[in-house]
Amino acid sequence: MTGLYIHIPFCESRCIYCGFYSTTRRELQDDYVRALCREMAMRKDEGADGLATVYIGGGTPSQLSASNIRSIFDGIDDVFSPDWGKMEITMECNPEDITDDFCRALSQTPVNRVSMGAQTFSDVRLRFLRRRHDSAQVARAVRRLRAVGIDNISIDLMFGFPGETVAEWTDDISCALALRPEHLSAYSLQYEEGTLLYRMLAKGEVSEIDDETYRMMYNVLCDRMEAAGYDHYEISNFALPDRRSRHNSSYWHDVPYIGLGASAHSYSGKQRSWNVSSMTEYIRLIMSGVRPSESETIDERTHYDDMVMTALRTREGINLDEMPEEFRKYIVGSAEKYIGAGEMWTDGHRLALTREGIFVSDMIMADLMRPDE
Ligand code: SF4
Repeated sequence: MTGLYIHIPFCESRCIYCGFYSTTRRELQDDYVRALCREMAMRKDEGADGLATVYIGGGTPSQLSASNIRSIFDGIDDVFSPDWGKMEITMECNPEDITDDFCRALSQTPVNRVSMGAQTFSDVRLRFLRRRHDSAQVARAVRRLRAVGIDNISIDLMFGFPGETVAEWTDDISCALALRPEHLSAYSLQYEEGTLLYRMLAKGEVSEIDDETYRMMYNVLCDRMEAAGYDHYEISNFALPDRRSRHNSSYWHDVPYIGLGASAHSYSGKQRSWNVSSMTEYIRLIMSGVRPSESETIDERTHYDDMVMTALRTREGINLDEMPEEFRKYIVGSAEKYIGAGEMWTDGHRLALTREGIFVSDMIMADLMRPDE
């Protein structure tokens, strides 16, 4: 089975921290959706084993018109003949777009999971990020989605804002938990090159939180979520029982996926490919029958390195039993010092990070990858 990712790179405005490719040129929406459906048809064979999940991400998919959302699902139906009833079908939505009309339109589609970028429940911090919603809209959006039968909702939060206190972060977690989402993702604020936030940092207008505050915030997050019954199944992700994101789990567990749209990535198990980032180039080339992508073949060693970077993010970690003997010996030997330091654990079949290890995960992952020969 395969996962299908569809990238919708439209945003109403740009948030200061965002390094994703997206455009505010709404007038390209119809042409883009036509190109997406064309790309689906070109790649029909890649979904021949059947689809397990669909994830419509962005950008801001909730900026799509109702007719374009319908066209995308009609396209999937025609090309891949999915068994919708057995699938997880997620759409990323911004809270301000979740109106009654939008929910009615959504209820006419197979979407059964919504991932919503709440980010924070502080209106001051939302304005700082230049988000378009306020905190009250998040609760309203959750109520509206539940009213049309969407019973699988994920909320994204951010922490580590300049000057944010642990008490303020704890309040944000409480606000999210009060909505009882089935799933929650939490990421620390990142200063990515090319973003306005990065330039503000470079000019000294904002400063990063210190390591100790970061640790306290992450510990509060894990403790509060676990106490509320959520499974901490990936470094940044928490789920109620049976509500792990099936689509994202496939990225961490080496399952193939098809990525459609400008800048979307695909993985076949043997090959990785990525589409051109420019929306206009994407539309032009697809409509002339050319798939605008580059690819690379994944050899055993790259496959091993990828697995270290992805599987180690999960609570179950790396499955040592499925690993070629040469790599297994290497990783078990390299991990010994981290196991001794309480940063990793193993039961002989699995190797994973402990919470202490998560704080130094970048360093551990880099160390466990194969050195250049
Ligand atoms: S964070 Fe989301 S809404 Fe904001 S610019 Fe990035 S993709 Fe668009």
